[in-house]
This record gives sequence, C-alpha cells and structure tokens, in this order.
Amino acid sequence: MIYQLSIILTEKCNLNCAYCYCDKSKSNSISSEKAIESIDQFILQQPEESAIFNILFIGGEPFMEFSLMKEIVNHTLQTYPHRKVNFKAVTNGTLIHGEVQQWLIENQKHFSVELSLDGEAESQNKERCNTYNKIDIDFFSKGLKQAIVNKVISPENIHTLANDIIALEQQGFYVKAVIADGVEWSKEKDIDTFSLQLKALIDHYLTHPKQVPFNLLSNALYCLTNSPNTLTKCQAGSSSYSIDTNGDKLPCHRCSDYYNNGDWKIPQEQISLLATDALSSKCKECLVFPICSSCPASIASKLNNTEQCEAYCLMMKSLFHANAYFIVQMLLNCPDHIYFENRPKDQIAASYAGAKKIFAQLDSTQPF
Ligand code: SF4
Ligand code: SF4
Ligand code: SF4
Repeated sequence: MIYQLSIILTEKCNLNCAYCYCDKSKSNSISSEKAIESIDQFILQQPEESAIFNILFIGGEPFMEFSLMKEIVNHTLQTYPHRKVNFKAVTNGTLIHGEVQQWLIENQKHFSVELSLDGEAESQNKERCNTYNKIDIDFFSKGLKQAIVNKVISPENIHTLANDIIALEQQGFYVKAVIADGVEWSKEKDIDTFSLQLKALIDHYLTHPKQVPFNLLSNALYCLTNSPNTLTKCQAGSSSYSIDTNGDKLPCHRCSDYYNNGDWKIPQEQISLLATDALSSKCKECLVFPICSSCPASIASKLNNTEQCEAYCLMMKSLFHANAYFIVQMLLNCPDHIYFENRPKDQIAASYAGAKKIFAQLDSTQPF
C-alpha cells in the first residue's frame, strides 16, 4: 500500500505567477518540530513492513526553506532506516543552483524534484515572472535521473500548447500538464483551441513513435469497458493527506487557508472533500465518469460556478475524444508506438473498445 503526505513547507515564494491563487499575504513556514511530529505519526501509524511512504514538499516555493527541508529529510532517514520512504518537491526552479543542485544529485536515490515550467521562453515568461533564464533547465533535464515538468494550461497559453509541449519534450522532459483552476475558461474559444492543439500533438506523436505522449493523451480508456481495470481516483483524507504550516492535518493542501483563497474557494460544506466526486448530476450517468474529474478539490472549487463547470466538461469531452482518436490512429498507423510498449495485449484491446464507446456515446462538438 502506498501512503501520501504533502507538507506545505512554507508559504513564502520568490515569484508571483499570474494564475497562482495562493494567499500572497501569508509567509509562514512550518516549524521543524511540527513537521517531524507529522512525519513520525504518518509513518508509525502504518506498521506493515511493505508500506511505501511518499512525502511531498510544496509551497510557496519549498526551496525557500532548503535548510529546513534537509533537516526533515535527514531526521526521517536516520529515524526510519528500514522503512520505504520517498521524498519529492515541486519547485519553480529559480533557487536550484550551486549547493542545492549538489545536494539533489547526492540524494536522488530517495529525493526527486518536479519542475514547474510552462514551455518555451515566451510562455514561461508571460505568466511565470520572466523566469526562463533564471532556471538551469539543463540541470533538470539532464543532471538528474528523472526529468519531469509540470505544465499549467491556462487561457493565456493554450494557443501554444502543442509547441510548448514539443519544446519541453525535445529538451528531454516528460510532461505532466494540468488545466488551470481559478481562471476563466471561455466555452466559445478555448475549447476549439484546445482541440486543435491536441490534434497537432497527436499528429506529432504519430510521426515520432519513440516519444512518450504527455499525460493528458495517455488517458486510461481501458477502464471504460467491462475489463477488470479500474482507475483509483484520489481519496484525499484517507490514503493521502496534507499538513499546513501550522502543523494542522487537512484532506489536501488545497483545503488550507493558504491555497483555498480567491474567487474559486472550496465551499465550506465540501471542505472535507469526502462527498465530492462529480461536477454535476449528469456525471454519474456519463460514459467517461470513471476516468474524468479525478481531483475532488478541483471539482469542489468549481461547484458554485455553472458556466465554468460547463466549460470544463466540454474540455474533458474534447480531451476524451482526442484520446480515442489517438488510440485508433496509433493502432492503425503506428502499432509499434512506444505508447504500447510493455502494455498487456488485453489492456490495448480494452483501450480500443473504450475508444469505440467514446465515438458512439460521448457527445462532443469537436472534430475527432
Ligand atoms: S512559483 Fe508556485 S507558489 Fe510561487 S507564485 Fe508561482 S505558482 Fe504560486
Ligand atoms: S465529461 Fe462532463 S459529464 Fe462526463 S464525467 Fe466529465 S465532467 Fe461529467
Ligand atoms: S484533491 Fe486533488 S489536489 Fe488534492 S491530493 Fe487529491 S488530486 Fe491532489
């Protein structure tokens, strides 16, 4: 069993990104005592030897508290040398130079980083404070065993989605993209743009069969058939939880005062995230519900905004049609694609069946 703990190490950040909804008036950091106490509880409550503990440091910018992070990691490794503990930090990358790089290289057996990077210099600089040249991109793409970037898709950068992802992949990164919350998506123009950009990416992957497709074109369509495959959606508050800078335990970091801020707050009645699994009553009847909207915090933050729920739903339908089209095109024209490598034959067959169901049953205005 895998257990996840995310720790908001600090609310301090050296940037002020355009789509960031964190409360910039806050600047607390967790104390080392509270962080260590939280980790002790997290590990000791699961006595089974096979348990895997993933501890994620987030901010703000967690490397604003590099000394504290090192202290927590050292304490944990020394106290629990026989437990399976992995650490990860999500970073804007601007503080990862010199001794920090050296430490990351020396500790990569148990510590990994994911870089937040939106794409080419223009996309990165527009919404992430002109930081492209402040990040040692080669270090992240070539200096560590894992080269993963987190890219935020926003209304400002959606029209360059394909170019940005291709550029990141050419630098050697695997791209994990998320659709921004807390921004205004337009049903009129952004959905069409999204589809066109996905189509451009599909064309690219079909002509570059050695390139692993980014996460949003790797949806688990095989879960849409009667096969035994199911996707476990996030169960915030049970196998995963978060600790804020006061040391308080929350279902997810997005339930903290620091994150739950601005126009798109999680309504108080949803803050436990326990009953939050669908954007609307239609979802439960929808073919793709088993693989759609897997983030309860994201769903909860939209529930009071019907227009944005509708826009998001259209984006999801467009995305699933794109995935269905992609699977069929790969099977027809590119059966040796790396996407299929190491996948069981029955899973590939189930993906094809899932794609056919999407074409037959999921309404969409998009051209796939
Ligand atoms: S780096 Fe992260 S925490 Fe800092 S402003 Fe940007 S999105 Fe917000
Ligand atoms: S596509 Fe729309 S209706 Fe279907 S599960 Fe997703 S959000 Fe709900
Ligand atoms: S609710 Fe969303 S943001 Fe929170 S842990 Fe789950 S998937 Fe992540």
